[in-house]
Amino acid sequence: MAELTGKVALVTGAARGIGYAIADTLARDGANVVIFDLCDEEAGATAAAQIAQAHGVTAVFRRCDVSNFEMVQTTVKEVSKEFGGIDILVNNAGITRDKVLLAMSEQDWDAVLSINLKSMFNTIKACYRNFMKKKAGKIINISSVSGLIGNAAQANYTAAKGGVIALTKTVARELATRGINCNAVAPGAIETPMTASMDQDALKALISTVPMGHMGKPEDIAECVAFLASDKAKYITGEVIRVDGGIAM
Ligand code: NAP
Repeated sequence: MAELTGKVALVTGAARGIGYAIADTLARDGANVVIFDLCDEEAGATAAAQIAQAHGVTAVFRRCDVSNFEMVQTTVKEVSKEFGGIDILVNNAGITRDKVLLAMSEQDWDAVLSINLKSMFNTIKACYRNFMKKKAGKIINISSVSGLIGNAAQANYTAAKGGVIALTKTVARELATRGINCNAVAPGAIETPMTASMDQDALKALISTVPMGHMGKPEDIAECVAFLASDKAKYITGEVIRVDGGIAM
């Protein structure tokens, strides 16, 4: 039997990029998957159908803005009822709005903090009771190496991603005696639509600083998340694992 057979994994921002690879990998390991994303119904349904077909699990899409507290509480309640609870929560949805601080608007600050950080308060709060009741649960938050070492022109993003690490450690401490693990993964430069939309000169400069000399793939992050979601990682909590080709060592 696969490691995660019978488990239900909720992955945010999973219609594409790293989130899609995470959902696909957890499904490969046997989990049924719920995708939260902001994309249109067709794109979300296609992503879920591909995963279900590839791995013979149940995979569904729910259009949910993870920065919207009420929407998250309602949608998590609905899927929990439908699936009999959630076992694995992967907080992956994120955006960038890069500018030097002097040029950064209040809207850019608020949007990034809201989608990258407040979203995790929303989802963890929505799953908290369910995890406590089961006396089990895995929470995996996607941070970034930028949250560890900072990055010029990303004050909003680095503050959010640093906040994700602090939130991870606090939730890990709150829930450690309840059989619930909370960890973070900090990716470096990964090939996704997010990095494809970056200024390509800036991207080249970034890649030149990676000790391994190349970008990572979404699957590199997904394998680390699958490990943290499994019982192989049962004694790991409050940890931040860099998957970054050595960029932030
Ligand atoms: P991506 O390709 O842009 O995918 C992000 C996904 O999140 C998209 O499907 C997007 O939906 C969804 N999303 C955005 N706002 C949302 C919201 N309010 N509610 C629900 N879903 C929302 O990004 P990625 O590169 O895969 O990044 C995934 C995570 O890894 C992010 O947290 C990012 O910060 C982190 N990360 C990425 C890298 C990298 O190099 N790529 C490095 C470090 C950390 P739409 O399609 O509707 O926009």
